[in-house]
Amino acid sequence: MNGNHEPVVLVVLADDATQKRVAGILAACDLPPRPGPRWRRHGARLVTLRLAAARGDLVADLQARPGVARVFLLPAGTPLFAAWPLEGAGRVPLGARAAFGDPAPVIVAGPCSVENEAQLLATAECVAAAGAAGLRGGAFKPRSSPYDFGGLGADGLALLARARARTGLPFVTEALDPTQLDAVAATADMIQIGARNMHDTELLFRAGAHPAAKPILLKRGFGATVEEFLYAAEYVLLGRIAGGHAEPGLVLCERGIRTFETGTRFTLDVAAIPALQQRTHLPVIADPSHAPGARALVAPCARAALAAGACGLLVEVHPDPDRAWCDGAHSLDPRGFAELMAAIGVGTGATRD
Ligand code: PEP
Ligand code: MN
Repeated sequence: MNGNHEPVVLVVLADDATQKRVAGILAACDLPPRPGPRWRRHGARLVTLRLAAARGDLVADLQARPGVARVFLLPAGTPLFAAWPLEGAGRVPLGARAAFGDPAPVIVAGPCSVENEAQLLATAECVAAAGAAGLRGGAFKPRSSPYDFGGLGADGLALLARARARTGLPFVTEALDPTQLDAVAATADMIQIGARNMHDTELLFRAGAHPAAKPILLKRGFGATVEEFLYAAEYVLLGRIAGGHAEPGLVLCERGIRTFETGTRFTLDVAAIPALQQRTHLPVIADPSHAPGARALVAPCARAALAAGACGLLVEVHPDPDRAWCDGAHSLDPRGFAELMAAIGVGTGATRD
């Protein structure tokens, strides 16, 4: 069983943890000197400790030790995803004009992958005209086959920045591994961590700790339980604490799980949306595109997700879906996207095609 069934103490050090500093912390908590079931280091400056019971003065004691920057006590059964100890938990801004967690659903739309300038600008303009709050597009693409298009990389990021300058739309794009974080964090308004990487705890932690403190969109792994999804989120949040960031800046995305069903690409787990919301304050959105994997099913899945309480959607849109380099089968064309926006009552109803 996962979780913190005992009190957990997070100790953030002012500098990189030395052996001596850690030994002092362990002595104060009466813990064994070797890392093991009761304590663990995360990155250079964070030590987490599981205590059988928390002494009343322990936090003050640890806080007063030299080299200790901050101490947080998480009561038993209260991980960071359930009770963020600082401010700003349930609202995650995307750019200057929208925030996940506000009453209006936040719709982020765009192509699966950035292919070229014309494709991206055409998509950005049409989703902006239809009322999207953000642009999505992959510059680094996770692909099942190593022979499929893997994205334009840094050139794709530059095109996304150009599309933002043209339309004013903030953009969300994926980082596949820690080596891409600097480049993605330097340009993107929000960093996506995709379904295939939900289990990459190093990526999760480092994305959270990154000094740029960009908001993160974490997608549920298609073989992950709700519990595993929440504890993946916990790694991002631990990263935030280790990085000294006050806000969690994390949005969870239900994007379909793999079941025995073959009539759809994945099964949109609608019930996971309220199930997540019962356990976390983090905003929860849905991806109605990858879940069914079929264009005709995107709008019904979008409506179902919003009805279940999702506070936003991630939708794939392409100016010419049948010629898309990736995921054309479930990409909406500009008219289809404008119709979806009208159907969910969010957009302007405008279309430019
Ligand atoms: C995507 O959003 O482009 C994507 C690859 O999604 P997922 O990680 O959910 O498969
Ligand atoms: Mn896609």
